[in-house]
Amino acid sequence: MILQNWWYTTLLNTKVDACSPLIENISCDVLVVGGGMAGLHAAKYLTEAGRKVVLLERNICGGSSTGKSAGFLTPDSELELGQLVRRYGSEDAKVVWSIASQGVDLIIQNIKKHDIKCDLLKQDSLFVGLGQKGSQEVQEEAYARKKLNLPFTLYHKEELKKINTGREYTLGIQYSDTYGINPLLYAQELKKILLTLGVKIYESTEVTEIKGHTAKTHLGSVTAENIIICIDKMKPSFSRVAKQTYHAQTFLSISEPLEKKDIKDMFPITDVMCWDSKLVYTYYRLTGDNRLLVGGGSALTTFSSMDVTPPKIIERVIGGLKKQFPILNHVEFIQYWPGRIDTTKDLIPIVDFDSQMPHVQYVLGCVGLPWAAFCGDYAARRLLEPEYCHIYCKYLKIQRKYFIPFTLQRILGKMITFSLNNIFSKYIQKGY
Ligand SMILES: Cc1cc2nc3c(=O)[nH]c(=O)nc-3n(C[C@H](O)[C@H](O)[C@H](O)COP(=O)(O)OP(=O)(O)OC[C@H]3O[C@@H](n4cnc5c(N)ncnc54)[C@H](O)[C@@H]3O)c2cc1C
Repeated sequence: MILQNWWYTTLLNTKVDACSPLIENISCDVLVVGGGMAGLHAAKYLTEAGRKVVLLERNICGGSSTGKSAGFLTPDSELELGQLVRRYGSEDAKVVWSIASQGVDLIIQNIKKHDIKCDLLKQDSLFVGLGQKGSQEVQEEAYARKKLNLPFTLYHKEELKKINTGREYTLGIQYSDTYGINPLLYAQELKKILLTLGVKIYESTEVTEIKGHTAKTHLGSVTAENIIICIDKMKPSFSRVAKQTYHAQTFLSISEPLEKKDIKDMFPITDVMCWDSKLVYTYYRLTGDNRLLVGGGSALTTFSSMDVTPPKIIERVIGGLKKQFPILNHVEFIQYWPGRIDTTKDLIPIVDFDSQMPHVQYVLGCVGLPWAAFCGDYAARRLLEPEYCHIYCKYLKIQRKYFIPFTLQRILGKMITFSLNNIFSKYIQKGY
């Protein structure tokens, strides 16, 4: 098993040109910094609205979390629907959930409108419970979906076996309107579309500093009326806002293509994308060429400050999955890769203006591709239609109350503060 992102391997099989780095001083109406799911969607909205847009990306577009992700497109993220209902109450939870479901729609509409080749698969979601506690969590999801009038099917142990033969799953909830994609191909294909729409994109271009209306890069600069910052792993030297985000680490691995028989043994009716109820959950789905994509992690490495690169953690996750599905024992996993997802302390993204530089807006801590797509689009809309923001501002604003406040963060450090805050938001928090 080699340490390489499978989506990079697939990208090498396509003809996508790289964009050259910025080596001059230029200007535009709006500068977007960061070419992940959020930045690409912000740039798309603005160029379609007639603005002169420049996008600067440190790596290649999609080269960080977006292009390392598993490509599950579902409104679920680190916060299940039941957890949103507990925290916000049904009415507000409906609005917050709609942020992520609109994000799914945005991506799917884009793929269909522009015929983006990114291995789009319509795959239902299946959340499966392990043991009594897991069953309880699945029940809570069913209860929340019922409350919000969202369709679902609940499977008890024996019925569940007919759609997913995992040995120890006790209860499962299935719902549709969810998809799987190759997220790096999506980002790179969207880059091509943006170029044809007139966006100037520079890859391998890191913004090192924002001074007034000018963003400095290591080889040039961009001066813009407005700036939208959609970057990850922000350094404290970049902005004081860096203290608002940390990250959670997860690992992925891809198998050789499965035989039809193995697929049928795993998913007797049709394949679904799945995740389980463990705190550090295991997630898996099939790709278009029938490879099994498996993700997961460990409690010890989730909040580690650097990428952990040895295969030990993901091998353990794969071992656990093979225990659920002994039919997979002969299946080989060929590549694996780690990735760190930026999070805020309460697992809800930040989309807000800089209090000292109101022409600068931040999109940070989007946990999930749909959240990122929506938040990038939303940040762009806010520039042109300020009224539009009023529905979502209260959830996404930067000034929020946290279980462990910033004053204590200075003493406890980021890792402890974020892990405690994340757990609090997931399992205890009420209100916002
Ligand atoms: C292993 C893994 C699996 C995941 N699986 C899923 C999944 O199945 N489904 C799902 O919905 N979500 C998944 N996620 C989460 C999802 O990938 C992220 O939530 C989403 O991609 C965030 O998008 P973004 O645009 O906000 O950030 P990013 O994709 O991280 O984009 C930020 C961009 O900014 C660039 N950048 C950073 N600093 C600078 C700078 N100074 N100058 C210029 N550019 C800069 C980076 O290179 C990067 O391209 C997963 C994440 C990981 C790591």
